Amino acid sequence: MRAAVLHGVGKIVLEERPRPEPGPREVLVQVASVGTCGSDVHYYEHGRIGDFVVESPLVLGHEPSGTVVAVGSDVTRHKPGQRVSLEPGVPDFTCAQCRAGRYNLCPRMRFFGTPPIDGAFCEYVTLHEEFAHPVPDSLSDDAAALIEPLSVGVWACRKARVEPGTRVLVTGAGPVGLLCMQAALAFGATDVMITDVNAARLRLASELGASETLDVRENSLSDAGFEPDVLLECSGQPAAIGEAIRAVGRAGRVVLVGMGGDEIPLPLAHVQTRELEVTGTFRYANTWPQAIALAASERVRLDALVTGHHGLDDVEHALRAGSRHPEVVKAVVRPME
Ligand SMILES: [Zn+2]
Repeated sequence: MRAAVLHGVGKIVLEERPRPEPGPREVLVQVASVGTCGSDVHYYEHGRIGDFVVESPLVLGHEPSGTVVAVGSDVTRHKPGQRVSLEPGVPDFTCAQCRAGRYNLCPRMRFFGTPPIDGAFCEYVTLHEEFAHPVPDSLSDDAAALIEPLSVGVWACRKARVEPGTRVLVTGAGPVGLLCMQAALAFGATDVMITDVNAARLRLASELGASETLDVRENSLSDAGFEPDVLLECSGQPAAIGEAIRAVGRAGRVVLVGMGGDEIPLPLAHVQTRELEVTGTFRYANTWPQAIALAASERVRLDALVTGHHGLDDVEHALRAGSRHPEVVKAVVRPME
């Protein structure tokens, strides 16, 4: 099979590799669509994210969908022909975090496209059957792939306890911000403001249901007079985070979703006197069925985020597209095309 392999900073090579064989509880999936993510771009441009360092050739891509084409000897959930959205991290199932139900925090997680585990910018992958989630035919291949970033939004909304009537501020209108926004609306949030510096993304946010958009190059958040119950921080911009936290109302919840900057200035007096909760999120746990249901019922629109398709020989373009063209939201790689 063909695979697009990262061989060092800024260098991806199309290689021929043996097609993987499914283990006893694994399915073999022919990959249909793979979303590109900011973390793929970061590995491509810098060769590392924090403690995760690319030390040997690596296949990126962790937002895949596809079709089951073969199953291992002990597989019971799937038959060949089943279309699936792949949850791209398999934990060890036995550690204290897994046993507590927090498998996203498993220290032995094997996650696609994260060193040293290969991802899905290739024609076939294998995965534990429980992490290949069936999707209805009404869901496109691209939408089935974008269940992964939608899961980030669903998890953030659960952490923030978004419920009917919650007022939500989303900072950053990239793919994750737009999906946090849509998830919040689907959870019943009534006033959802989203901020960015990119007019095209803010227009898309409006089309997707934002109550209000704010271009923070033109207007400051503090002048907007919006006091949310929940802040879903998706910009990863340290300078902007403090101002956003200052907007949050009493007993509000702040969920830090965006990555960027190891340290941020925290308006501590505001956090203390208003009893704000500030928490991080790391990926997700048990989100796929809910995310698939939200997409299938069109409470959340995923295809609207897709701005371009690329073949396996064009992965570098897919990864560079976002920084070169401000209108790009989500570039999708389609390995079989
Ligand atoms: Zn574990």
